[in-house]
Formats: sequence, structure tokens, C-alpha cells
Amino acid sequence: MTDLEVPVLIVGGSLVGMSTALLLGHHGIRALAVEHHRGTAIHPRAAQISQRTMEIFRTVGVEQIVRKKSDEQFVQDGAIMAVETLAGKEIGYFISNLNEGVRDISPTERVFISQSLLEPLLKSRAEELGAQLRYGTDMVSFEEDSNGVTAVIHKRDAGKTQTVRAAYMVAADGAHSRVRERLGIAMRGRGTFSNSITIYFRGNVAPLLRGRNLSVIYVTNPTLRGFFRFEKPFDSGFLAVNALGDPTNPITDVSTGLTEERCLEFVRVALGSDEVPITIENIMPWKAQADVADRFQHERIFLAGDAAHVMPPNGGFGGNTGVQDAHNLVWKLAMVLKGKAGPELLATYESERRPVALFTVEQAYARYVTRTAPYLGTGGIQAVENDLNVELGYCYGDDRRVHENPRESKGRPGTRAPHVWIEYEGRRISTLDLFGHNFVLLTGPEAKPPKMDLDADVHRIDDPAFLEAYGITPSGTVLVRPDGFVAARTR
Ligand SMILES: Cc1cc2nc3c(=O)[nH]c(=O)nc-3n(C[C@H](O)[C@H](O)[C@H](O)COP(=O)(O)OP(=O)(O)OC[C@H]3O[C@@H](n4cnc5c(N)ncnc54)[C@H](O)[C@@H]3O)c2cc1C
Repeated sequence: MTDLEVPVLIVGGSLVGMSTALLLGHHGIRALAVEHHRGTAIHPRAAQISQRTMEIFRTVGVEQIVRKKSDEQFVQDGAIMAVETLAGKEIGYFISNLNEGVRDISPTERVFISQSLLEPLLKSRAEELGAQLRYGTDMVSFEEDSNGVTAVIHKRDAGKTQTVRAAYMVAADGAHSRVRERLGIAMRGRGTFSNSITIYFRGNVAPLLRGRNLSVIYVTNPTLRGFFRFEKPFDSGFLAVNALGDPTNPITDVSTGLTEERCLEFVRVALGSDEVPITIENIMPWKAQADVADRFQHERIFLAGDAAHVMPPNGGFGGNTGVQDAHNLVWKLAMVLKGKAGPELLATYESERRPVALFTVEQAYARYVTRTAPYLGTGGIQAVENDLNVELGYCYGDDRRVHENPRESKGRPGTRAPHVWIEYEGRRISTLDLFGHNFVLLTGPEAKPPKMDLDADVHRIDDPAFLEAYGITPSGTVLVRPDGFVAARTR
């Protein structure tokens, strides 16, 4: 017997599960997300939100509120750099200002906002769009058949069990995904290279910052290797610790046998000062790992986010990649559920997202090795690509080319449709504001729209900047998918 019927059941309601519910709501699909925890994230974790994720948030109407809240929490446009200690010697800068040189390429910006502040914003919009989010609820078992998935969910406090029938299930249940395990899908890659910890603490670090605007501060000294992140007004933050002791042969099991005193000592050493009174608030163990699931789809079940790929936080790619998984998947699910496309469309989720995940995980690993753990050896790792190429330059349709400089894509099929400010129907908008629901056909001023089997919104744009950005002549056309990727182009 089934208690509930939903089009899509999402397992896990954290950053990626919540984004999936929100994006499905945007496409008119009322999903049910179940989350083990009793509420949204309590730990900051992901904070670096890429321009691509912000573009996705813009599509669903949360960009402005995310920007406003991010300003309240962090000083934006900070640097990503490395020190021996916060009070002491600077080693170097990887990025001197998070948004320097990238503002022209997107209608939005990279921001810092922690998961604990972001998730409630996504939740409220997801609920407005019809998503059902059930906290304190576990998905305890499931069976898949040719027509759907039947899952048993358990409300922890009420001790109540229900059966849910869904046409599709999205497993956004994190790095230790039980769904993935149950489906027998293996993870492959570099494996786990550190039992790391994040130490959340309070203490006035403003004097040690000396007015520097620093978003991520890598710490490398003979005692430890890790990174700091501080929130406004610089009286709280965290220190992630990945390795201890001898920099050439360090101890990478940081989490075993840990005491609060030892954590206090780590924070003091990384600050390079005993003078700041520090209170430890929490200590979270996590594994630094770089692995990708062998499959992202099993019949009617899809893996997304950390369930599909786990990477070290260096680069701030993990959560962003998960949101992009969701963005790639939801319009396909929506089209299939609405009978506008056959289920074969869903197979493109894995064929498009898995190569991007393999690349992004390697990029995060390369940053981990070069910034924190040279002892792992740089032989056989990818060169560190410009962050922009990872964030906006990921592309689909050719396994040999999964990323490129987005400034050079110019509307090439398989790449993100470029942003250009245009005057359209009396308003100044980004070309990206035309995408999000349906397929969109953009035409030059002299183009004759082709006959298509597909339902598409047609926009004629008479602007040389648009033609240049999309690499077409006045008689050219560009077909853009609901996720803002170019499907086809006639020049
Ligand atoms: C220190 C640190 C800093 C980071 N910084 C960044 C950053 O700046 N930018 C970035 O993009 N990424 C960052 N990351 C990575 C980012 O936090 C993760 O990639 C992201 O949280 C993954 O989200 P997720 O929703 O896929 O998985 P999770 O956040 O792990 O969520 C999975 C959820 O599923 C729930 N769940 C599991 N099983 C069940 C079940 N059976 N029933 C119900 N619920 C279930 C869990 O309770 C959990 O809430 C950072 C990570 C760390 C550790």
C-alpha cells in the first residue's frame, strides 16, 4: 500500500537535495525531499558560491536575497591566499580579489555565504514553488521497478513510517550515500587522503587580519596544514586541518584521539598568537577524498552532489558542482514527466555530468596537492586551470573537451550560452534572463526561424554585441536548452 505519490522523491535535503527540489518546483514539478536532520544545515561548510550557481539562483528568483544575506555575513571580494600564520608571514596569493576580472562575463558575481545561511533561503523559495520538505525523516529502504520507485520513509520523532511511490528518485544523500551503496555503484579515484577536521571557534581575529580582506586563508607551517575562513565581524570562523607535523611526511589522520585542548592549540598555532582569547564551539570530522561514482543513473534513480562525486574543498567546487548536477537533471526530468520527451533524454544526465565531475574532482585534488599537500606528489596531477574555466567553462557533448575558457566558447554547441546585456522589449536584461523554463531560439535580426519539432520560445535580438558573443551573423540562430546550454547553432 502507498501512503504518498509524488513525481520525484529526493533523498537528502541539504544543499543539493534542496536545490533539486527548488529547481523542480521552478519547472512545475512538486517533489518531496526527505532529510535526516531536523532542520537546515547548522554548520557553515560550503561558502564559496560560483558565478554559475548564482546564475542558477538568479533563474529561480533567489539571487538578490542571497547577495543581500551574503553581504551581511562576509566581506565579499576577498583574497584566497596562504600564510605561515595569520599574524605572521604571507606565503602568497592565489586570487587577490574573488571577482576581479570576472564581472563582465556574468550578470552576477561570486559570493561567500555559508550553507547554514543559504539553505533557509533556498528552502523558503522551494516551498513557495510547491516543494514538500520533510525534516527529521529518513528514507530507510527502497525498491525500484520498471515504472517507478517505492520507498519507505520514517519520521524520527513521531516514529511514523510511510510508503512513498515516485516516478523517479534523486539520491542527494551525501558522500556516504546509502542509496549508492545499495545500488552497488562504486566510487573510483584518488580515495581518501586525510581524516580532516573543521574546528569552529569564536575569538576576535580582526587585529590579526590587519585590514586585509581575506576570504580563504591557507595555513602551512611545521605544525599543521589547513585553511581558515572568518565571518563578519571577525569574531568567529573555522580552521580546517588536513595534516599535522613534518611537512614532507605528515600525519594525515587528524581526527583520531582529538581533545579540545589540542584543537585550541591548533587554532593558536595557525593564528600565530596566544593573545586572542579563543572558545572552541564545535569540531567536525570529515574525509578529504577525491572520487567519482562509476554510474550517476540506475534506471529511475539518479545520484547528485556528493553522492555522485566527492572532492576536497580546495577551490570551493563541491557544493557548486552538485547544484549544477541538479540544474542539468531537473529540466530533463520535467520534460519526461510532462510527456514532452522520452526517457532516453535522462541518460544524458550521466553522459554529460560524469565527465565534468571527473574533471572538477581532479581540479580540486590538484589545488589540494599544490596548496596544502605537496607531499602527495604532483606527478600525474592535472595542471591547475583558471577557476573561471572550471566554474563557467564546463561543457557537454565531447568527452575529450569537458572544459574551456568561457570567453572563447562564443555560443559553441555544448557550452554555456554567453551573457550579454541587451535592450529587450524596453528593458535592460542579460541574455541569460531569457533562459530557464523552455527551449529558447535566439535569432539574429535577419534570420528566418527554422521549422522545429520542439516547442521553443523565440527571441529576435538586434544587437551586434549579441551576434559577436554568440558567434553568429545577422541571419544566424542559436537554440538554447532550459539549463542555458547551447543545443544547436546556425551561423
Ligand atoms: C570545510 C568544508 C568547506 C567547504 N567549502 C565549500 C565551498 O566553499 N564551496 C563548495 O561548493 N563546496 C564546499 N564544500 C563542499 C560542500 O560542503 C559539499 O560538496 C556539499 O555540502 C554537498 O552537498 P550534498 O547536498 O550533496 O551533500 P550533504 O551536504 O552531505 O547532504 C546530504 C544530506 O542527506 C541526508 N541524508 C543522507 N541519507 C539520508 C536518508 N537515508 N534519508 C534522509 N536524509 C538522508 C544527510 O542528513 C545530509 O543532510 C566544503 C566542504 C567542507 C568539508
